[in-house]
Amino acid sequence: MFDQIAQSVTYQKLNLSAQLTVTVKRLDQIHPYISGNKFFKLKYNFSAAHHLGLNKVLTFGGAYSNHIAATAYAAHLLGIESVGIIRGEELAHQPLNHTLNLAAELGMQLHFVSREQYRQRDQPEYLTALTQQFPEYFIIPEGGTNALAIQGCKEILSHEDVQNYDVICCAVGTGGTISGLIEASSSQQTILGFSALKGDFLKRDIHKWTQKTNWQLTDAYCGAGYAKTTPELLKFMQSFEIEHAIPLEQVYTAKMMKGILDLIQHHYFPYGSRILVIHTGGLQGRTNHRDQT
Ligand SMILES: *Cc1c(COP(=O)(O)O)cnc(C)c1O
Repeated sequence: MFDQIAQSVTYQKLNLSAQLTVTVKRLDQIHPYISGNKFFKLKYNFSAAHHLGLNKVLTFGGAYSNHIAATAYAAHLLGIESVGIIRGEELAHQPLNHTLNLAAELGMQLHFVSREQYRQRDQPEYLTALTQQFPEYFIIPEGGTNALAIQGCKEILSHEDVQNYDVICCAVGTGGTISGLIEASSSQQTILGFSALKGDFLKRDIHKWTQKTNWQLTDAYCGAGYAKTTPELLKFMQSFEIEHAIPLEQVYTAKMMKGILDLIQHHYFPYGSRILVIHTGGLQGRTNHRDQT
């Protein structure tokens, strides 16, 4: 059911350096709202829900979560009820931002919980309580990351992507997407993750999903932290879009791209490297990044 709504994605070569090639795989083109990697993360989750006879999904996210928007859209499209457990009680009394407004308009029931409660999102007791409160709901974890998501993300790389590139770059939030890429890669390839948040815990999370070791993760380009932006980053994002006609957003892909350009400038990649950059999308109809400023 998911594959029918997939639109074709293009490869775009960037003219950045004479010493290496950089190609962007535009997963942002796969669907305007079930954007980029979220399409692959949700695909097998929705089919599992369907096979279990559950036509309701429940998931978790912050106020700017691309995963919440993508889940709401997919549920709407498939005629499935959806519930979003949203971090931040105070948001219940404020006007909804673009992401949450979109989700609500698509029919997602939003439940705002305290940060303390939200921290329980993976705890069995809390999940049991949620199952009682929302019976018959298929529960998808935060960011959509579970074994079904990793299975889906393995499909991001085609056979040619595995053959034709030495380095594969992607942005990292929960680590689900990079884990799928690592699993699908060949041992000659290096998967290089650009973390959108600080901290080493993500490396442990990735180790939970894959035994392979042909990957690296850097948090050097996440700035002040998750979803924290600067005028400089916004300026970079705009000039990159003008120069290459590739829209980015500030939470993930702009920070990754800035990191890649910095590494190229510092001759990090060996001469002749063939680099494939995964554009993980997150543009939600290409308007939401304006609300985040
Ligand atoms: C959600 C998201 C990510 C992070 O994916 P993970 O699987 O959580 O690591 C990266 N880029 C974009 C644009 C996203 O929306």
